Amino acid sequence: MINDTFRHKGLRSRLVDELRGKGVGSEAVLRAIHAVPRHLFLDSSFVKMAYKDIAFPIGAGQTISQPSTVARQTQLLEVLPGQKVLEVGTGSGYQAAVLGEMGIELYSIERQSELYKKCCQMLPYLGYSKIHLFLGDGYEGLPDIAPFDAILVTAGAEEIPAKLLLQLKVGGVMVVPVGSKIQIMTRIRRLNEEEFEQEEFGECAFVPMLNGINQ
Ligand code: SAH
Repeated sequence: MINDTFRHKGLRSRLVDELRGKGVGSEAVLRAIHAVPRHLFLDSSFVKMAYKDIAFPIGAGQTISQPSTVARQTQLLEVLPGQKVLEVGTGSGYQAAVLGEMGIELYSIERQSELYKKCCQMLPYLGYSKIHLFLGDGYEGLPDIAPFDAILVTAGAEEIPAKLLLQLKVGGVMVVPVGSKIQIMTRIRRLNEEEFEQEEFGECAFVPMLNGINQ
């Protein structure tokens, strides 16, 4: 049975209030954060901290993003139920679950096989059946499944991943942290076949987006 108690739900209500206080305004995003049992995405030694607004190690040298970062990135995506979205960097699967909770048909790529395998067990176990997981290099995207309504990159890219831009529908957006040590949260909208518009939303710090697969 899934271990999600009233106490966990109470802690999530407090987290949602905290995120509201930090300026997260999208009720759809807050509802999803309230619904996803984040404590099940962390190693058991961190469970007590699961509903604090902080990032944690998840194995393979990677981190689960802090809830306010997940909320802000999800809000910037401007997605609606039923839309087809690509995530780069499945990691713990938490961000994927938040999008799944919002009724998104999600395709998520991870390059670390250890994390990919964990998510292949965890996400179906929690009932997220519209999340499709892939082991691969996110720089390549998923050309056979494109175009996407939105693309979310959850690792820091030194430059805007050019191949991914071409996998966006016209009108769709890609949200990506761009830079090396410190990144700028960037949103790029595809205006038509050739033109893109870029907006910036302040500094952030993600683990780096790397090339190739790590078996
Ligand atoms: N969305 C995740 C955040 C994980 S951190 C969560 O909710 O937990 C970023 C992840 O991106 C790491 O797991 C890292 O292995 C992965 N990553 C880095 N470069 C990648 C690439 N080129 N393709 C796919 N995944 C990548």
